Amino acid sequence: MLALQGDVREHVRMLTDLGAAASLVRRPADLEDVDGLVLPGGESSVIDKLARAFGMQQPIRDAIGRGMPVYGTCAGLILLADRVEGAIAGQETFGGLDVTVRRNAFGGQSESFETDLTVPGWEGPVRAAFIRAPLVTAVGADVRALAALADGAVVAVESGVLLATAFHPEVSGERRFHERFLAHVRNASPLAR
Ligand code: GLN
Repeated sequence: MLALQGDVREHVRMLTDLGAAASLVRRPADLEDVDGLVLPGGESSVIDKLARAFGMQQPIRDAIGRGMPVYGTCAGLILLADRVEGAIAGQETFGGLDVTVRRNAFGGQSESFETDLTVPGWEGPVRAAFIRAPLVTAVGADVRALAALADGAVVAVESGVLLATAFHPEVSGERRFHERFLAHVRNASPLAR
């Protein structure tokens, strides 16, 4: 769990509830002890700045390049995206996920909302909390859109072992994205570590 800023506690609770051993990643050496990484919701520009200040940007990019499974929610989706619309000046991402995202696509905090989504192949609705959420505005050829809003806007994507949602399952109590991330972790090549 990348623990520089954001809703770390909610993710740790979810991962622990699912039987995973979650640890907090703050320094490059912490990355050597984990088999996967969750990027929380929060403020992507702040997490980016702290990651660079703590010397974490390149190690995380390297881990993604080696094939480490990553799950990003909201700000975490932005941090995984190769391209960002509406980034603040100088804002960077870890990248790795061939998508374009638009920050704060729904407006500010007061435009936050919860809704039910469907994911093809999943039984029952997915309860999704959107909080100053981004949208996926373009997906690369190897990226699969997992869920969209009624107007077609893509809000959950997967590419190999990289999973990202514009919303916060860790807030609404929806477990299946974290389960999917943990399945990626279990199946990942040991070389990814
Ligand atoms: N708007 C935030 C950002 O740009 C993301 C909001 C969130 O993670 N809930 O990072």
